[in-house]
Amino acid sequence: MIGETPIQIAIKSVIATSAGYFILAAVTVSTTRFDGGVAFIWVATALLIARLTTLQPSAWPAHLLACGSANVAVTALFGLGVAAAIPLSFVNLFEAVIAASVLRLIQIPERPLESTRWLAGFVLATGMVAPAASGVGGASVATMVVGADFSAAYPRWFAGHSLGSLTFTPVFILLFRKDLGERIRAMTHRRAAKTAVLLLLVVGVSIAVFAQNRMPLLFLPLLPVIFATFRGGSLAAASSVILLTIIGFTFTLCNTGPISLMHGTMGDHMQFLQFYLAATVLAVLPISADLARRSNLISELRDSKARYRMLADNSTDIILNLDVHGLVRFVSPSIAQLGGFEPSDLVGRNAALLVVAEDRASAARSHVMTLRGGGAMVSFEYRAVTASGAERWFETHSRAVRDDAGVVEGVVSVLRDISDRKVMETQLFHAALTDPLTQLPNRRAFKLELERLVRHVHPERSFGCVAMFDFDHFKQVNDCHGHEAGDRVLREFGRIAMTTVRGGDVVSRIGGEEFAVLLRHASLEQAMVVCERLRNAIEKMVIMVDGRPVRVTVSGGVALIDVGGAEDAIRSADAALYHAKRDGRNRLQLAS
Ligand code: GH3
Ligand code: MG
Ligand code: MG
Repeated sequence: MIGETPIQIAIKSVIATSAGYFILAAVTVSTTRFDGGVAFIWVATALLIARLTTLQPSAWPAHLLACGSANVAVTALFGLGVAAAIPLSFVNLFEAVIAASVLRLIQIPERPLESTRWLAGFVLATGMVAPAASGVGGASVATMVVGADFSAAYPRWFAGHSLGSLTFTPVFILLFRKDLGERIRAMTHRRAAKTAVLLLLVVGVSIAVFAQNRMPLLFLPLLPVIFATFRGGSLAAASSVILLTIIGFTFTLCNTGPISLMHGTMGDHMQFLQFYLAATVLAVLPISADLARRSNLISELRDSKARYRMLADNSTDIILNLDVHGLVRFVSPSIAQLGGFEPSDLVGRNAALLVVAEDRASAARSHVMTLRGGGAMVSFEYRAVTASGAERWFETHSRAVRDDAGVVEGVVSVLRDISDRKVMETQLFHAALTDPLTQLPNRRAFKLELERLVRHVHPERSFGCVAMFDFDHFKQVNDCHGHEAGDRVLREFGRIAMTTVRGGDVVSRIGGEEFAVLLRHASLEQAMVVCERLRNAIEKMVIMVDGRPVRVTVSGGVALIDVGGAEDAIRSADAALYHAKRDGRNRLQLAS
């Protein structure tokens, strides 16, 4: 084979196909034209259809020309004679072209005999449309050339061609497959021996049935043929049909076997045999198609399972499979590293038990959302307890899994330990809202608190008051005692302020040496009392720096928070503070 040019290969294919066509046509015409009309059995078209479907259309003309010539020769030599030869040849080629074109149109998959869609198209095109169309031409030629009865010639043509093509096209397609040789060579000895035994069984039963005349045991060969199909695949199925055909044809032609028990001519017997064989093929082909589909599915499944295993075993993420009730069906080995559990300890347990009590309800909600999500990804975060009892944060991406019928039967999730990220997030969140010097909430945090208060408290109840404090002549503290001393003073203010206000109140450093205090639900009078106590405490405060006392005072402005909101209150307290400074410092001023 190696070294052959495409032209050489094409020429060989044309010669082989037309030779096969000639032999099949010659045998069927010379043995099954029982009454001088058209042949009862017609197998040659099946060969041509099978060949055409496995070739590019550019190679069709050469094959059609060669097979057409073979057809002319057969008709002239063994059939209806010279006058009918050319028109009949055209009719036969026309039939093959129709069938092969439809088969190409329905897109022959990689393995034609192994798809049920292909099978339906095949039966319709090859068994019905093509012979129904060609029958008009064939019967007309027989009527005109040998004076046959059109109404008798048409059904015989249709039946002979339809049954012949249905029976033999799949067999020929299999024989023309490029990988047939490879498949046979790839067979193990064991499998080859098994196939041989299966085929011997078919031969034995077929001979036993067709060699006797006493009982109509035609159903019997179906058993070994179907058995061979199940155990041996499409190759064994096709071989069984070929063997059954040869045996049935030979015995029936010798007037032996169950079909010869029938009334009617040899032609009727032959046609019935054909019908019997076509029914056998149509019973076996869907089985072989389905088996092949399943075996492809299984091997795909095996591949994807292996890939998935590889991922699951080597991933640092945890892969978790839950059923609809949340019971663990599978968990990947990485759970040992992250959670300290052995996968086998968790299988069968409810995953919710691993989630901390506070997050259990939201985890359950997410599970239901995933189940109802129609395959959409659902992500959520929660805390889970590891085998050692430690709490860790996990992030989960989940998707629902459906069964063949589309019913959701579980959830597949990927879990990642995000505890480090959570710690970082908390730290960043804290840092964004905290003043680093005093560890008090900063201006942003103070505003958020104030806004939250205004948003959530019912206006009937008083919101409370805001006080603003600013150190008096603070520059001098820095100048006389150093910046470090100034910082100590600021920290000390925070500490004293915290001990002066109530638990829910907020003390915040909102600027350099400016502080704000939120006094929740306090009236102006109550707020003034608290702030005065604070001002007084600061006035009394003495901080020793390098053996020298540092004394400071603060001024403050106090404002009521009303419907004007947070911004308004801060502005009013600031304005009051300005007045306190102007009026001499170390004092408080109520906002007007
Ligand atoms: P006044 O009574 O009018 O408020 O006088 P003042 O000197 O306090 O003036 P102002 O309120 O403008 O004071 C700002 C000074 O506060 C400037 C700066 O030296 C000091 N300051 C601001 N932030 C810090 C800080 O973080 N540490 C220290 N040590 N000093 C600060
Ligand atoms: Mg100041
Ligand atoms: Mg200031």
